[in-house]
Amino acid sequence: MAQSRPSPRAWFESIRDPGERHGLDEVVYSDRSGGLLQVVHDMDALAQKSADEWKALFELRARRNEWPYGSGVWGKKEWVLPDIENENVVSMYEGHTNLFWAERYGREIGLEDLWLKLCGNSHTGSFKDLGMTVLVSQVKQMIAQGVSIPAVACASTGDTSAALAAYAAAAGIPAIVFLPRGKISLAQLIQPVANGAIVFALDTDFDGCMEIVKQVSANDGVYLANSMNSLRVEGQKTVGIEIAQQLDWSMPDWLVIPGGNLGNVSALAKGLDMLFALGMISKRPRICVGQAEAANPLYLAYQRDFEVFEPIAARQTVASAIQIGNPVSYEKAVDALRRYDGVVEQASESEIMEECARADRTGLFNCPHTGVALVALRKLQARGLVQKGDQVVVISTAHGLKFVDSKLAYHSMRLEGIVSEHPNPPIELEASYAKVRDRMKHEIDRRFGG
Ligand SMILES: *Cc1c(COP(=O)(O)O)cnc(C)c1O
Repeated sequence: MAQSRPSPRAWFESIRDPGERHGLDEVVYSDRSGGLLQVVHDMDALAQKSADEWKALFELRARRNEWPYGSGVWGKKEWVLPDIENENVVSMYEGHTNLFWAERYGREIGLEDLWLKLCGNSHTGSFKDLGMTVLVSQVKQMIAQGVSIPAVACASTGDTSAALAAYAAAAGIPAIVFLPRGKISLAQLIQPVANGAIVFALDTDFDGCMEIVKQVSANDGVYLANSMNSLRVEGQKTVGIEIAQQLDWSMPDWLVIPGGNLGNVSALAKGLDMLFALGMISKRPRICVGQAEAANPLYLAYQRDFEVFEPIAARQTVASAIQIGNPVSYEKAVDALRRYDGVVEQASESEIMEECARADRTGLFNCPHTGVALVALRKLQARGLVQKGDQVVVISTAHGLKFVDSKLAYHSMRLEGIVSEHPNPPIELEASYAKVRDRMKHEIDRRFGG
């Protein structure tokens, strides 16, 4: 094992058996019993700085040019990957995404203090950049130390592969991606193609791609970039820290997040845990995970108080990035939900598209996964769990531009089984001033008239 320092400030630890530890520069994805690992930090070392000192440091670094600290992830480097050399960091200045005050949408649905964390306003258009910068940086450091890694690979529902391809291309490391053929959007497919990754479109679903990538990593030394590799969680956990920072180091009443493989909700909670441990925040928010009804194993388990978990065969959903029946991070997610008084809701295909469209009318441009979270929020309201004055932050996971196929189908009223309550197809008309004027007046009246 190539050990960079005698006493590392962060390491892999088995969740089941904290006695089992590995260096972050070891090629290891699970513990000896096949369970998940997590990255554990030397919290005593971090506690050498006071809460106020950390806040001041994070604020000083934000968006500045001193490499690599201007990134939302690397501005928190000591909390993320403390033992990485700055020269090995592969960053595209990810993070620091807009916390959007959804004033008009909030007013329409009866909430005064609703925010969307727009994680899709990022280099490859989804929150996956936050985790991938950490994983690819660690790989670059391992290669620099002489570890033999021929390529980095992932199975993906579209966004992980886009992020892996971009960061690997920036670092000059070969990337291989396994995608379920015909099940991801065109925009997602073209990203790894353009970035020069080796792209396999396999006749299976995400879970089938996962089986293949596990074999390639076990047999051929290819480094696994899926979220069972807990390095990615370290970058993704900065989303909760950033939300705290953007709310002047406070927490909302609720955080609502869509979930598929469930790495992201685990990461969100882990970031909050560190904020509490280091005295940076005091209020505990509640967390709600939204799932698509077509891919709802967590929701089903929640219905039975998490006493039993059964993987399912995920059915097709417009929220293609969460079409996952056997989530890798199920156990971590259940832990996270227990710590944050969690709730799980689900959204039907029609609910997802209608809520996306409704919110888009107020200036947002939601991906279907964000739509799942918005539907979950509406259900929390209906159950009386979220009240008018509550502060709510919805994690928007990707940019809507990656999912124009389903949006276009919705507005052209071509989505099977969906009514399209808010369609807005382009008006095709002869290029005549008189006809345009009449139609224009009619449309203004119809939409904004009394
Ligand atoms: C990956 C992804 C998710 C789900 O995150 P998990 O960690 O798999 O739960 C949600 N939305 C988008 C857009 C994603 O790319």
